[in-house]
Amino acid sequence: MIFAVRADSNHDMAKNTPPPTDILNDHALFLDFDGTLAPLQDDPHTVAMPDASFNALPGLFQALNGALAIVSGRDVRDLSSRVPQTVWRAGGHGVDICSPGEVAPPSTQSAPEALTLGFDAVAEQFDGVWCEAKGPIIAVHYRQAPGTAEALGSQLSSVLKTVDGYKLQAGKMVYEAKPLTANKGRAIEHLMRQAAFAGRIPVMFGDDVTDEDGFAVVIEMGGFAVKIGEGDSLAQYRLETPNDVAEWLNKVNSQ
Ligand SMILES: [Mg+2]
Repeated sequence: MIFAVRADSNHDMAKNTPPPTDILNDHALFLDFDGTLAPLQDDPHTVAMPDASFNALPGLFQALNGALAIVSGRDVRDLSSRVPQTVWRAGGHGVDICSPGEVAPPSTQSAPEALTLGFDAVAEQFDGVWCEAKGPIIAVHYRQAPGTAEALGSQLSSVLKTVDGYKLQAGKMVYEAKPLTANKGRAIEHLMRQAAFAGRIPVMFGDDVTDEDGFAVVIEMGGFAVKIGEGDSLAQYRLETPNDVAEWLNKVNSQ
């Protein structure tokens, strides 16, 4: 059953109603992957979409005339192994975008060496903390060591100060060092200029801090945003879990 979660603070605009489903004719859909389409897991390698969502996406893509993209912080090659290849895929918070059917090419970008070496040295000091290279982005996962969040964040911040053009973003049990150009809002702006999306009203679903950049852009363009789970958000609507997202996708698809 789809149900909405009550807004949890005065600053939180999320309405206590589920998002509308009559979007096929004139909207474009942007969906985050981890925590939105797929439930979070202790090990990010094991994250997978429920069949109900996976199977709904190709039909939705057709019904939206191609205006459907998955916008993720994962490397686009990793993302492409977990979602239908027939939809648009934006990986690395938008640093790599694959069009429908396109096979993701090998990555040609990497993070600055100072950042890679510095982050590896920090991660080695904490049990259960590991670094993942995602092209120009480095993710530092600490889901298996949640108590380290503060000390880890402060040490990573010190390393980041030695590198230009990067920012450190805290997500759910992860810190990411990403180029200032890696931004889901920018990815959505870029996709909205493509023929399949142009003239449509953007809708974005996401569960984490990095999705707020996308939410700001879709709201600015007259669309709406849907926050999955708890936490302050710019989003006008809220759903509780990826299963509720699956139910919403199938409701839209059946219209
Ligand atoms: Mg997410």
